[in-house]
Formats: sequence, structure tokens, C-alpha cells
Amino acid sequence: MDDLSRRGFLQSAAAVAAAGVLTPSVSSASTNRSASLSGPVVVSSANGLRATEKAASMIRDGADTLDAVIAGVNIVEEDPEDNSVGYGGLPNEDGVVELDSCVMHGPTCRAGAVAALRNIKTPSSVAKIVMERTDHVMIVGEGALRFARAHGFEEVNLLTDKARKIWLKWKEKHSDRDDWIPPEVPDDDTQSSALVDLPFSYGTINCCAVSPAGDLSGVTTTSGLSFKIPGRVGDSPIIGAGLYVDNTVGAAGSTGRGEAVIRTCGSHTVIEGMRHGLSPVEACLSALRRIVKTTTEKRLHRKDGRPKFDVKFYAVARDGRHGAAAIWSGAEYAVYSDGQNRLEPCAYLYEKPEEKE
Ligand code: ASP
Repeated sequence: MDDLSRRGFLQSAAAVAAAGVLTPSVSSASTNRSASLSGPVVVSSANGLRATEKAASMIRDGADTLDAVIAGVNIVEEDPEDNSVGYGGLPNEDGVVELDSCVMHGPTCRAGAVAALRNIKTPSSVAKIVMERTDHVMIVGEGALRFARAHGFEEVNLLTDKARKIWLKWKEKHSDRDDWIPPEVPDDDTQSSALVDLPFSYGTINCCAVSPAGDLSGVTTTSGLSFKIPGRVGDSPIIGAGLYVDNTVGAAGSTGRGEAVIRTCGSHTVIEGMRHGLSPVEACLSALRRIVKTTTEKRLHRKDGRPKFDVKFYAVARDGRHGAAAIWSGAEYAVYSDGQNRLEPCAYLYEKPEEKE
């Protein structure tokens, strides 16, 4: 172990303990259960409580794990109030919503993905059809839209009025050297939204499940980085980055700064950690340490050298152990296990500082 890893390991061990995730019965419990579980285990990002509940209930009723997790995230994709995913997602810099998603089915080792898809509320469902009805893994942009049309998906304007107003505020405020001018009197409550103060924001849903028989699947879906350059694709639709499933090991996914996850093949790295004996939470922390180590750009460093951004990994093992970790403290993840649907704390590398940099 080199210096940074050793320091990171000690810090994160302390952080894990502080977050209470070393308590047995929770995510990091390193029990060695066999692949026969008493019920499904489903994990998701914190915005996925409805997804974990839905997926678990479908798996209990005998559904395939992939159908179950997609039905779960469809709820969030179709929710106009969630500004980070699907319908209602924040648009690119031109005010157009572009969605990314991928799915992976453990039992058959198959995968499908779409990126920069416009006008379709449920990119995860299109990704599944790419997997099932083409010889490809990923279709993007105009081709993805035509493919979705061919399969009967309804086209809608994904930009809700709320998302449009947030985009317009961003457009009018992000520079005083262009011709877009904010109103003299704020005209609605999006003016006070925290988003207005942020040049860019992230948000995504990842959901992974294991059935009582030990079969795994996962899905990640997002509107990506808000106000992105049109055509920008993050980690969410990239197999190995925003999602990876290996039916002999587990399933993992990510949210947060996609560029950092792509460069480290994040979710695949988590699964490889688990394959080599790390618990889900340890594997998530180890992949985050890799991100910290490989972020060399000064513009992405705080004064103390730590990253200015956050990334979260979520993981479930074939035997039902689960865990999640973030670079910064304070995050939670959704989990259904032992018949209970709830939020649990993520482990983390660093305590979030009080002051903003
Ligand atoms: N990972 C997503 C992306 O980079 C965004 C997010 O998770 O917040 O597109």
C-alpha cells in the first residue's frame, strides 16, 4: 500500500466507524452468507427509495431482477419533480434535455445503453431493448431516438416548466458579458433555488438488486450534468463506469462527477475489489481512493488538495451484503433488505468541511 492509500485507508476506516457502518447487520458486515437469501436485496442512490421498494416487491413476486430494477427507476424517470433524471431533468446549455442510461443483466452477462437521448421519458427501458433487440450495446443521439420511435416509445418534450425556469436563470446569471439579462424583480421561487447559485449540478439514479437465488441486475439513468455541452456523455450509460454487474460477484453503480468515474472504470473497479475479497463498502471506498489519486488537475482540487467534487458508489454482493460510499460525508443510500426499505448512511473518505471553497 502506498502512502496515499494507507492514509486514505486509515481515514476511511475511521470514517466508516464514525458513520456507524461497521455495525454488524448493516452494509459492511462481512458475513459469509451463501447465495440463498431469505428475500431480495436492492440498493439505490438516496433518490431511489421508491425504486428499491418497487423492485423488491416485484422480485418477491418472481420477476426477473432486471425487469424489477427498471420498473423501480421508471418511477423516478417519469417524476417531473425529480430534476436529475428523465422527465423534468435539467437540460443542456441549449435548454434541451438529453438522457443517458444503461442496464446490465447478470444471469446472461448482457448489457444495453443509450446516451444523449432526447424526447423519451424512460431511457432505461430503451437501454433494455437495445440489449434484447439489437446486436449492439450502445446507441446514442439521433440514432437512439429513431430506435426508440421504432419500438413505439412516445415522444414528449422532457423540459418541464420548472426545469426551463431553472435553466433560464442559469442562462441569465452565469455571465454578465452576454446579452441575457435577469429580471429586475425575481419573478418566481426558482430565483431562490440553491441551483441558481451553482454553475452545474449532478444527479442520477442507480439501482442494483440481487434475488434470493443470487441473480443480479442493475440500471443507471440520468439527465447528466446540468447545462452540459450538448452531446456530453457522463458515466451513467457506460458499462464499467456508471454500472457493472457480474453474477458471480455482485452489482455496483455510481452517481456524481461522471468524468472521474469514467477515467477509473469506477463500477468495474468496485466489482473487481469485491472479487478479490473486499466487502461492498470497502470496495466502494477503494474505488473512491483511486479517483482521488488520479485527479491530477489543480482546478479540481480544494486548497487542501482534496477533490472539489463528489462521487458515490453503491454495491450489492451476490450473498446480499451491501454498502455505499462517497468522497464526502453526509450522504445516504436507499436499501431494501430483510423486509425493510430505508435510507442508510454512506461511508466516506473525508468529513465535509463547514466552509464552502
Ligand atoms: N454521474 C452523472 C453524470 O456525470 C451525474 C450524477 O450522477 O449526478 O452524468
